[in-house]
Amino acid sequence: MRVSSANTSSYNERMFTLVVVWLQAGKHLKAEERITVPYDRLQSTVQAINGRGGQIQSVIADNAPNAGTSPATTATSAKAVAAKAPAKQASKPAAKKAAAKSSSKAAASKAPTKPETKVAASKAPAKPAHQAVPINLYKPKTPFIGTVTENYSLLQEGAIGRVQHITFDLSGGDPHLEYVEGQSIGIIPEGEDAKGKPHKLRLYSIASTRHGDDMAGKTVSLCVRQLEYQNEAGEEIKGVCSTYLCDINPGDKVKITGPVGKEMLLPDDEEANVIMFATGTGIAPMRTYLRRMFEPSERDKNGWNFRGKAWLFMGAPKTPNLLYDADFEHYQTEFPDNFRYTKAISREQKNSKGGRMYIQDRVLEHADEIFAMIEDPKTHVYMCGLRGMEPGIDEAMTAAAASKGLDWSELRPQLKKADRWHVETY
Ligand SMILES: Cc1cc2nc3c(=O)[nH]c(=O)nc-3n(C[C@H](O)[C@H](O)[C@H](O)COP(=O)(O)OP(=O)(O)OC[C@H]3O[C@@H](n4cnc5c(N)ncnc54)[C@H](O)[C@@H]3O)c2cc1C
Repeated sequence: MRVSSANTSSYNERMFTLVVVWLQAGKHLKAEERITVPYDRLQSTVQAINGRGGQIQSVIADNAPNAGTSPATTATSAKAVAAKAPAKQASKPAAKKAAAKSSSKAAASKAPTKPETKVAASKAPAKPAHQAVPINLYKPKTPFIGTVTENYSLLQEGAIGRVQHITFDLSGGDPHLEYVEGQSIGIIPEGEDAKGKPHKLRLYSIASTRHGDDMAGKTVSLCVRQLEYQNEAGEEIKGVCSTYLCDINPGDKVKITGPVGKEMLLPDDEEANVIMFATGTGIAPMRTYLRRMFEPSERDKNGWNFRGKAWLFMGAPKTPNLLYDADFEHYQTEFPDNFRYTKAISREQKNSKGGRMYIQDRVLEHADEIFAMIEDPKTHVYMCGLRGMEPGIDEAMTAAAASKGLDWSELRPQLKKADRWHVETY
């Protein structure tokens, strides 16, 4: 996992107010105190507070001055946290564990020391071997030649940019180009680079289940955003491979490599819980998971009777930019006990501070429920999308963890070690 240290000055400048209750209040300590620190001192301050016996009731994040243009983390819904997690409940899971460990009632009733942040890594099922996962069946020198069967827009009227759903026929390969949910394939665009050499491959997350969108097991689908930006000279630049793919027509032949990737594989456990954070085309692997879990024809085919809880947090700039939205709404209606769909639409919705609603704001809003799920060793968390989403999510998880008396910098490596924290950003 890439744990981003890309907390640029704008992140470090953001201030967080910790509302602390001192349980071991001495003469010189107030019962409640508010401590305001910048992001880069948040974790060390949380540790210091925990070490001194304080309990963090809530964490309030101030919006950065440039909140209109960069992802902004908002308050940990201070009221909600205070109501849901008063001092006694703030470290409830940790207190429960501590009480269970201790045979002495007296010890259990004493003021808590540092809240226990260890997740149930040791209780987690052994890391799956993933032996059956196909890897690099086709390499750049001898790619598989797939045929485009479909290429259509995933955006609605009024959306920003261009995002296409593209399907390739994989028939006739020897070996057959098989793959599983969570993997990526490589695409080698036609033509040459500026040095006259063939273009290098670009990776794309697979958006179809191993059975393909038509269940015949002979296709693969991608969800591709055309890269467009202005260079320093003010010229409009279009990405080589993403433009090649977005413009491609049914019947065209495409060089495909792979599959690759083991980071984003789903657990086999039918009772696993799956929390998903996606922005933009980061929805591709999540679509494969959700089809595998809830699409009737896929369920019939795969025999995988998912009974856990899946929760998708999806970030988009505008409603018409939400990808596969109707399918996810449908799954939520059909499987209300197993699937929850939470959207953050930055240019339309406001966070509790009145700023733009980003996915990290939703994480903070639902901090209690997210951390209650993470306490369960059957819960896996997946993140996919542009690399820029990582600092925001990391910041939100830090603040959300702190509001429960937990230290995210300790918790995250434990989740990773237990193969429960999966990140693929690009
Ligand atoms: C594991 C993985 C999975 C991926 N999955 C997907 C997916 O599902 N869907 C998807 O659409 N993409 C996905 N990508 C991204 C994809 O691989 C390509 O990087 C993307 O399509 C751009 O390729 P391109 O050839 O169009 O752009 P290129 O022509 O290669 O241009 C990219 C380059 O342009 C420059 N650049 C980009 N933006 C700017 C900017 N704003 N200002 C200045 N310079 C800039 C950078 O130097 C960058 O390296 C994934 C990447 C990885 C690693």
